Amino acid sequence: TQTLHRKVALVTGGSRGIGAATARALAEQGADVAISYTDSTSTAKAEAIVSELQQKGVRAAAFRADQADAGQVTRLIEWVIERFGHLDILVNNAGILLFGNVTDQQRDEASFARLMAVNVAGVATAVRAAAQVMGEGGRIISIGSWFASHVGTPGLADYSATKAAIAGYTRGWARDLGPKGITVNMVQPGAIDTDMNPAEGPFAANLVPTIALRRYGRPEEIAAAIVFLASPAAAYITGTTLTVDGGLLA
Ligand code: NDP
Repeated sequence: TQTLHRKVALVTGGSRGIGAATARALAEQGADVAISYTDSTSTAKAEAIVSELQQKGVRAAAFRADQADAGQVTRLIEWVIERFGHLDILVNNAGILLFGNVTDQQRDEASFARLMAVNVAGVATAVRAAAQVMGEGGRIISIGSWFASHVGTPGLADYSATKAAIAGYTRGWARDLGPKGITVNMVQPGAIDTDMNPAEGPFAANLVPTIALRRYGRPEEIAAAIVFLASPAAAYITGTTLTVDGGLLA
């Protein structure tokens, strides 16, 4: 039986990677799914995912909205309501990874502003808008990162801080929205094979030996945790972080 029948989900950054896998997994559980993306070159990919989801028998649609633009994020939530009537599950997945060492002032300042805008402000704007329209049983799930708990390498302070901010927000939002019957959690992935961090990419050789399971995770393995947190079985889980990292942090 499908656990998310009649639910409406929004997955930000659903055109590729973890977001696309999450959209598929939510649809397999019967949820109607809206996805967002930002790059004009991703329109075809997003539309292909929408048709794939529709073939699973659910309603689906894609909307182009830059997570760094508060107006577009607010509009995205309004559009989901117009299109699907309600919003039950918000998955804050859209995110970027940029490098910048605090000693390299110019690069650090530019990447700081962009990382904060996409990974933190965009998420906060989405949650603020969703809180207005979500009711009892609502679910907010944000994708953090193992970098929220352990940095281990130079050049990733800003990125790590954005994900640690989401962990803090998750606890705070759980308190704010608990009285409305809405749960708020963070899923903290380890190294997952996507465009952002390919299993054959530059980080892999150093990372894999540090992972207890000695391999990258697949986007579907993060999606499974998100589906669980979205399901009725997770009704009493809020304000916490679920690490899905193959034992990277262990
Ligand atoms: P990808 O780079 O593969 O995909 C990113 C997705 O986010 C795309 O759909 C992209 O859309 C969208 N996106 C990026 N910027 C914006 C924006 N400004 N507005 C709207 N959408 C945007 O990343 P992953 O799937 O790997 O990452 C997903 C999440 O998981 C991120 O939050 C990331 O930080 C986190 N994460 C990933 C890990 C990994 O190892 N892969 C590890 C830990 C955390 P578009 O196609 O338009 O660019």
